[in-house]
Formats: sequence, C-alpha cells, structure tokens
Amino acid sequence: MSERVHKNSSYLNAKSTCGTQTRVKDVSPTSGMCPICIRDCPFLCEVGLSTFRGREALYPEPLQFGYSTASALKDFRLDWSDFNILSSLFKVEGIEADSDVALFENASVESTVAGIPVKVPVLTGAFGSTEVARLNWDGLAVGCALSGVIITIGENVCGMDRESKITNGKVTYSKEMERRIEAFRKFWDGKYGDVVVQTNVEDQRLGVDVYAISKLNVNIIERKWGQGAKAIGGEVRIRDLDKALMLKKRGYIVIPDPEDKTVQQAFKDGVFKSFERHSRVGMPTERAFLEDIDWLRNQGAKHVILKTGAYRPSAVAFTMKLASEAGIEAVTFDGAGGGTGMSPVPMMDEMSTPTVYLEAQVLKCAEILKKKGRHIPDVIMAGGFIKESQMLKAIAMSNFGDGPHVKAVLMGRSPLLAVMKSSYFLELAENRKLPRKFAERYGVTPDKFFISAPDLRTEYGEKFASIPWEAVGLYTYLNERIRVGLMQFLAGARKWKLDLLDRTDLVALTERAAKTTGIKLVEEAEADAIERILD
Ligand code: SF4
Repeated sequence: MSERVHKNSSYLNAKSTCGTQTRVKDVSPTSGMCPICIRDCPFLCEVGLSTFRGREALYPEPLQFGYSTASALKDFRLDWSDFNILSSLFKVEGIEADSDVALFENASVESTVAGIPVKVPVLTGAFGSTEVARLNWDGLAVGCALSGVIITIGENVCGMDRESKITNGKVTYSKEMERRIEAFRKFWDGKYGDVVVQTNVEDQRLGVDVYAISKLNVNIIERKWGQGAKAIGGEVRIRDLDKALMLKKRGYIVIPDPEDKTVQQAFKDGVFKSFERHSRVGMPTERAFLEDIDWLRNQGAKHVILKTGAYRPSAVAFTMKLASEAGIEAVTFDGAGGGTGMSPVPMMDEMSTPTVYLEAQVLKCAEILKKKGRHIPDVIMAGGFIKESQMLKAIAMSNFGDGPHVKAVLMGRSPLLAVMKSSYFLELAENRKLPRKFAERYGVTPDKFFISAPDLRTEYGEKFASIPWEAVGLYTYLNERIRVGLMQFLAGARKWKLDLLDRTDLVALTERAAKTTGIKLVEEAEADAIERILD
C-alpha cells in the first residue's frame, strides 16, 4: 500500500497526461512540488503550466487532440488485478467430459446483450464527434463488424457535421452519420453485433433518434446520462473559427465565445489554438424518463439502452430502478478511470467511482431487483477494460447463481489503440521505416505482420481487398487475442460457456477487494473443503 500512496502523490504536480514534469523526482508527498522550488527552473510542472495556459492545463495535451486517447493515471486502490481466477480439475461444465472434446478451442465466449448476440462479450465506443473517432472510423466499424461485436456511435455526430441538413431545428440528413453506419453494415453478417446510436441532450433536441430510426433503420438507441471519465457533458476541441461559429449557432456551448471580436483576434494572433465545445448535462426525472422511453419505442426503436457514468451510490440505485421500470434492455455503467478524447485530467483522476467499486454497487441493486421479481436490465461495465482476464472477472463476479448480470464490457481506448497502431505501422511500412526488430520478426508487409490476414482473405475472398488493414488489426486484437484468451481461461476453469462462470470462480487477493465485492479471500475460499474431503 505504501508504494501505491507514494505513486499517487508524485503525480500531484506532474503528469504525462498534461506533459508536465518536476525538476526533481523526490517531490513533497503532500503538494507534489519540488521540496526546493527555485526561481531559475526551466521545467513546466502542473502549477508552472497553469501559470501560462490556465484552463488548457486542465486537459490532456491539447496538441495531441484528435490523435490520442487519454485516461486517469491514479491508482484507485482496487482494480481487477486484486482478484484471481480459480482453476478446476474434477468437474467439467458446458461440454462433454471427454479429453478429446473438452479442448479450449471448443469453449464458447458468445454472449447476448440487450437482445443482440455478440461473438465476444464486447461493445466498443462510444465514439462520438471527437476527432480521433472520425479519423479512425473505418477501422473501428469494419473491425467490429468482422469481430461480431457492437459498436456505439457516440454523441453529437450530426450536430458537428458541417454537411448536416437541419430543418426547423431537426436533423434530416448527416453525411457523417450515414458514413459511420454504412461502414459497419458493409461487413456485418446481419446477426452478430450491431450499431448503437447514442443520444445526449443536444442530439435529442436535434431529433437524431428519430432520424436514425426512421431514415437509417438503426435498431438500437442509447440514451446518455454521462461517462466515467467526467461527470459533465462531452467536450471536443475545435481548431477552426468558422466551425466554432457554426456550432454556437447550432446551440452548442463554445468557449471562449467565437462571436466575441476580442476572442476572434486572439485566435487569429495564435494566443490560443483551439476552442472548446461542451455539451449540456442531462437532468433526468422519473416521469420524463419513463415517458421518453415509451416515446422512443413508439418511434420504432427496437432496442433501447442507457449509458451512465460513475455517479454516487444513490444515483446508481435510482438509475437501476428507473431502467427496471422502463424495461430498458441494458445499462452501461462507465467507471472512473477510463476515458477517450478530451476529459479534464483532474476529473478523470479525482472524480467518480472507479470500475470495480461501481460494479459492486450495481450488482447489489440488481440482486435487490431480482428478489423483488422486477425486470433487471443487462449490465454492461466500462472503465479501463483492455484484457480478457478483466472482462472474465467482471462477468464471473456478477453471477450469483442464476447467470451473470454483466453480459459484456464496453471498451473505448483499446480498440482505438488497435486501429491507430495499425494505421501508424502501415504508414511506417509504406515508407520502409518499420522498427527493425518488428520487421525482422513479423515481416515488412501487412499481409505478413497481421497474423489474421490469411484467414480473413479465405473467408472474404474478393471482398477482402476492401477491408481496411486497420480493421484487420482490430479484428486480430478482438478475435485472435481477446476471444482466444477468454477460451483458455474458460477451459482452465473447466467451464466451456461464458455464462457458467460465477462468483466461486474468483478469489480476492486483498481485504479491500473482499470487503467491497463479497468475493472470498484466497485463504477463505472453499475453506471447509479440505476437512470435508479428507476427514
Ligand atoms: S517550478 Fe518549482 S515545483 Fe515546479 S518543477 Fe520547478 S522547482 Fe519544481
């Protein structure tokens, strides 16, 4: 624990997220400042950067916006590494107890979430109007379609689209929205995965839901109450004055005011290089929410889900209550620690409930609803998931004996990483600049270094040529790494189906993990087994 405390305090006044550093490493544990702060210091620590750039210092490095993702770096004292998965030997479930059949390759990691089957228990998103999503969309969408998972188009896509047609305050056409949906559908098998269109306050005002359902035949609409990275609305940077003006006219909050002549001059003079576009926060009320969900269904939404952030426990309980009453099919709870485009760094680090604590609260609510015989929405957990072990633990923890409440996890940063990595290495390959070791090990052309390329070429034939390599990269990550890794864990637990995993497959490694989640400590798990079997 002492190591963890030390680690956090050293980030107080310097964070790679903001590109800040201190002059010396042995900083004050209380303030994060160098013990001797000197006048002639050329370093920019947090306070130093804030001295020059003010609010810009609240954000991940502005220059990286559009080409990066960001998350918290704080150690929340409890995460998925505080649990281990128990392996089994004598009992085989979900498959014939035959060593020639019970191979890990035969394990099923399919799930069904909000009525939609997925090949891997994953949703990706929500990728909204933030630049990094727009730039990497084809790789994300096609990669998800190939992998049989759900992709979520996030908030503000229509509102930010210069080519949107807005009539009487309602959107009737958005080139960007149509492009995003079509990219997925081109390689969608029509069965596994689908596209979700997320709607926040501005989207609802613009009628994005009705447009998506009626004109674009979108099956799943998601209402948004928040995200784990911050408890305020979505934010993006705008590097173009005309676009900032257009967004203000469309009703968005743009800071500083692009219509102010002084601001315009400062922008032209290079005093600042980007505007902030903010979204409004929702003010959900019980009656309005229930009416809204009924209304959405009447508009033709086949599936309705809700995305919320990591608000206080009473808000978690109220969310589950309303989602249950409205018959919502799934709720995504996004834990603190995750992030994508542009969230204030202090909010990512210091605000809201981290993922494992949040899941423990959600599960408590789900179990109360179960006891009362009420509808329980599928739970989707988000917030820092990148690996199969984390998702397996999240799912297993949620199964109290009647099947898991958590049907899938939502991932944002890691799919983007896979797509950006693919894109950059393709560029390096084209310019014959691949890192020497990589080239020696894996080859210099994408058909060699993407290990899934031969299989996909066989499966898709001529169509393979129109699959972006970035999508091959995402497919390789989701299908060849996550899916296979999950199958191995399932076979190790001797459970060949994902929904057979339950809480007894986990042990807690710390008192806090056990206390928070009710998962037994390693030394307490099956405590009576030794005497029972041997006495
Ligand atoms: S300004 Fe002071 S606290 Fe900041 S890095 Fe320099 S010496 Fe350290």
